[in-house]
This record gives sequence, C-alpha cells and structure tokens, in this order.
Amino acid sequence: PAQRVASFDQDVWSIFTPLAAETKAINLGQGFMNFGPPAVVQEAAKEAIDRVEANQYSHPRGRPRLRNALAASYSPEFNRQLDPDTEILVTAGANEAMFATFAGYLDEGSEVIVMEPFFDQYISNITMNGGKPVFVPLRAPDHAATQNISSGEWRLDINELRSKVTPRTKMIVLNTPHNPIGKVFNENELREIGKVAEEHDLIILTDEVYDRLYYPPLEKFPRIGALDKFWDRTLTVGSGGKSFAATGWRVGWLIGPEHLVKYAFAAQTRVVFCVNSPCQEAIAAGLEASLTEPIFQDQTNSYIEKRSRLSKVFDELNLPYTSPQGAYYILVNTSKIRYPADYTFPDILDQRGDDFKICYWLAKEIGVCAIPPSEFYTKEHWPLAKHFARFAFCKTDDVLDQAVDRLKGLK
Ligand code: GLN
Repeated sequence: PAQRVASFDQDVWSIFTPLAAETKAINLGQGFMNFGPPAVVQEAAKEAIDRVEANQYSHPRGRPRLRNALAASYSPEFNRQLDPDTEILVTAGANEAMFATFAGYLDEGSEVIVMEPFFDQYISNITMNGGKPVFVPLRAPDHAATQNISSGEWRLDINELRSKVTPRTKMIVLNTPHNPIGKVFNENELREIGKVAEEHDLIILTDEVYDRLYYPPLEKFPRIGALDKFWDRTLTVGSGGKSFAATGWRVGWLIGPEHLVKYAFAAQTRVVFCVNSPCQEAIAAGLEASLTEPIFQDQTNSYIEKRSRLSKVFDELNLPYTSPQGAYYILVNTSKIRYPADYTFPDILDQRGDDFKICYWLAKEIGVCAIPPSEFYTKEHWPLAKHFARFAFCKTDDVLDQAVDRLKGLK
C-alpha cells in the first residue's frame, strides 16, 4: 500500500456500525437518520429517475437547478448575491468538498490548522493530499466534569491558535456547528479566527454541514464567510444529506469566492468529474420548497424535542454532558460508568483509547451504541477522551425511547 494510506487504522465507523448490527444494540453511534427525507425530496428523486436526461452526467460544477436553488437559499445567509456559475460547486458529499479543497490548495508539507477534537475525515483528507495537520485544542471548563455545560463553553484560545501558524500554514479548518461537541462559534470567536487568517493570509475552510440544525436561544447561525471581509478567504461546506436526512446520497456543496472555488473545482473534476444527477435534482427540490415552506424550522423543532428526549436519561443517571447548540450529538461524561474489571474485549480494541472499551461494553451489555470520541483526537491526546461517549439523536422517537429504557439499566 501507499505510505499515506498504510498507516490508517480501521476507522471507528467500520467498528461500531457493524457492532451495533451484530449486538442488536440501539444505534446512536454513526450520525445517520433512521427516517427518510421529506416527501417533497423523495418524490423529486423518484421523478428525476424517470427522466432520461436527469440520469446522465451533470455539469461538473453541479446541475444548474441545484446551483440556482443553493444561490437562492444561501444568498441571504451571506448577505450577498451568490453567482451560481462561479461561487457554488456541487460536491459528492461534504467530505469530498473538503478533499477537493485540500487537493486544490495543499502542496507537499503545507500545514493546515485543525481544532481538536476534529471530525476524523479531515485528517486523512489532509494527509492524502500531502498536507500536515497541526492541532489546536478546544477546551471544556473544569466544571464540565461534574455538571452539564452548554457546548458554547468549550473554548478556543485564540493566542494558542495564532502560535500554531508557521510560514508553511495554508489553511485553518473550522467546524460549526461542531462535531462532536455541538458548539456554534459566536461572531466574536469567528472574528478572532478570521483576524488570524487575515494576518497570515490563510484560507478558512469552514465545515458547516449542520448549519440547518441550531437551537434556541440562538436565533441566527453566524457564518464566518458572511462577516467583515472574510468572504474573500473563506470556503464554506454544506450538506444535502444533513439538511434533508439523506446522508447516503452524497450531495454536498462548497460556497465561496470565484478565486477559491476555482481550484477545488479543478481538483474535483479530476476526482469524480461530476456528482450523482437524480439526487441533485431532489436536493434542489428540497431547497426550493424551503424558500416557501418551514421545512428547516419543522426539522429543528423535532430535533429540539429529540435532544431533550435523550438527554433526560443522562440527567437521571447523573452523567454530566455537553448540551449541543447545534448538530445532533450529545457528548456524555462516562466516568461514573463501571464495567467488570475482568470483562474481555476483542483484540481490535487493544490499540485504542479507553473510551473504545466503554462504548463496546455499552453496546454489548446495555444495548446502546455510542461513538468513542478518541477517534477525534490525536493519539497523544486520547486520554482527554477517555471518559466521553458521543450519542447521536437523529433517530425516531420510538428508537430514542428504547435507548433511554436500556440506558436506565446503568442505574
Ligand atoms: N458525520 C457522521 C458522524 O459523525 C458520519 C461519519 C462517517 O460515517 N464517516 O457520525
């Protein structure tokens, strides 16, 4: 194998998703929904499959209907009229949007500053493109060990970020709402990050796949690409899968100024050429509908309800957690959970953080699958994740209720 790939461990998803299936655990692990896209989106996909033309290659930048719908939906978000021909690129999921951006902008040895914990795919996407991730931590306050906190209390030390910049730094990766913390960066925090990028002429790549899922008291989702002059150096990633409960469709997008979209587009054309056509039509239909119908508001309301449906059991069990401002994960402190000292774990967990053990035991013996967040930390920082498990609440109420019942077995 190539050196760049040979070092990849088996990823957390391919351990825990099959484990949940084998053990028949309620799967609150990998963040996918057990419900389908809104009817308008599903119908549009079926209708597109019936149209000969909609089954063929799309324009490499994305089908015009989807780019127009994205422009209509996102222009107000960025306080500017987005040009669907040059400022929007449809990608094969958000992950590929990031891959194409790294491919388009990193040279061998280019450094990319990533906040830790990070969504795991960033790292391999960076290294596969010759880049080097450089880490800066998000820190929870001390009282997070004993009481619930808001995800907003996880903080970035801006001077620490600044100290990570070297002459080789090319980019800062931001993720808001953040996976796995749920933090939504506020405007002040975004301005501080933007200033560092300005001082050193860096690109900001912001993963905003959960942008349609943020919760009160937040009234508006702050975007760095919409602030001050940061538009000119920012690429924003979005997700059809997250926005419309269709994570397997792999339709995402990249929004930014023409001069930055340009080389991500150049790279993407050489990787996938274009993105699956019928699903693009369907996501377009969803965005069009969202201009006149409260699709996203309804979705948000249902997620607010789901968040409390699940989190109440952690209150009951006295397990402190981070209440997310956005996205659909709850990061729970598991330090009070005890499993038998002589419990045997499979070899596959040997070279992993201790949180893999707790999550394995939870799936197997309690019947609820969560994700061990050390996957989102560099190896030297695995101990920081030791007492955490990430539970996804993008599930139907009956499934959440069953998970709650089983988790009560921890009492
Ligand atoms: N983004 C989802 C999660 O964090 C799925 C990740 C994946 O399957 N690679 O759970």
